Amino acid sequence: MSKKVLVLPGDGIGPEIVAEARKVLETINAQMSLGLELSEALVGGAAIDATGIPLPEATLTAAKEADAILLGAVGGPQWDTNPDFQIRPEKGLLGIRSQLGLFGNLRPAILYPQLAHASTLKPEVVSGLDILIVRELTGGIYFGQPRGYRTKEGGVREGFNTYVYDENEIRRIGRVAFEAARARGKKLCSVDKANVLEVTVLWREVMNELHAEYPDVELSHMYVDNAAMQLVRAPKQFDVVVTGNMFGDILSDAAAMLTGSIGMLPSASLDANNKGMYEPCHGSAPDIAGQGIANPLATILSAAMMLRYSLNAGEAADRIEAAVSKVLDQNLRTADIMSEGMRRVSTSEMGDAVVAALAE
Ligand code: NAD
Repeated sequence: MSKKVLVLPGDGIGPEIVAEARKVLETINAQMSLGLELSEALVGGAAIDATGIPLPEATLTAAKEADAILLGAVGGPQWDTNPDFQIRPEKGLLGIRSQLGLFGNLRPAILYPQLAHASTLKPEVVSGLDILIVRELTGGIYFGQPRGYRTKEGGVREGFNTYVYDENEIRRIGRVAFEAARARGKKLCSVDKANVLEVTVLWREVMNELHAEYPDVELSHMYVDNAAMQLVRAPKQFDVVVTGNMFGDILSDAAAMLTGSIGMLPSASLDANNKGMYEPCHGSAPDIAGQGIANPLATILSAAMMLRYSLNAGEAADRIEAAVSKVLDQNLRTADIMSEGMRRVSTSEMGDAVVAALAE
């Protein structure tokens, strides 16, 4: 049966890195007869330039019809001056996430041993690091009502947001995390602030209730301040971490930087049926766009995640990840991960090397 993959190149380096991920997907598709049908649509700044809005109806329809979506990145200074926030590139992304109900954000932080020097932490602290952060993406304080900014009596300005989760929202992200832990090292750490915030008292209760369904997974709880400390002190103690939207936003960026290079990190945003949008953790890097020097590996690894989580093609995902490891073993490096003694390659040379490694 054929599977529809919608490809959204976006802006800046987006089209360059997505082109390489497409090469890899087309190669594995032919090799393993996966039946993938790839199509492309506009999103972000590219869509604003072509249609006046960041998420055209045709793109949203194609996204709804697709089995999975692969995104490059959106954004750039030329669209940042529009006073109407609805006409900003990022609205295209947020629109797809909310319209498709992509509530489960999976961000692996994996340190390839070949890149251990790239981390700011000591090699022995991070070498072999393999963490998965599961972040709730469509609720919590970023979406809670009421919210606002007002001037009170006496001319005092006040800003306010509401941190709210109901038990169903917690349960569905909890399930994503327990399932992920079950498929990996069987350890789940739930991060909250249950000593201060009632909403996370509920979070902890629901995680404990869910644990009864996953007795094979070891569940622990940690306050977010301690989790931030432990992530930089001894990150290898973690397997899967699950947390709410805001804590996850912050902790997943910290975890990403443990690996030293944003150009290597993929991500997935999933709905309740494992349909998802896959994208590198980095942005559109306008400073290097058009120069052919961007690292395409985060996007290629995002394509691998897509095969594993949404397209039921785990073996194809394993092969792509092994091919990426192989090109690193061959000492090929884009500028962002370059070090002494390595051979510097362009964006397309890196993509070609992964394709060649797949063929071996
Ligand atoms: P960025 O991630 O685009 O770039 C940060 C730094 O990392 C830059 O120096 C860039 O050159 C470098 N970099 C990023 N990806 C790289 C890659 N693949 N290879 C080599 N180097 C890479 O973050 P930023 O500069 O803060 O944002 C630039 C634009 O991207 C903004 O418009 C922002 O809104 C947007 N953005 C989009 C997304 C997304 O589409 N999901 C995420 C973050 C930022």
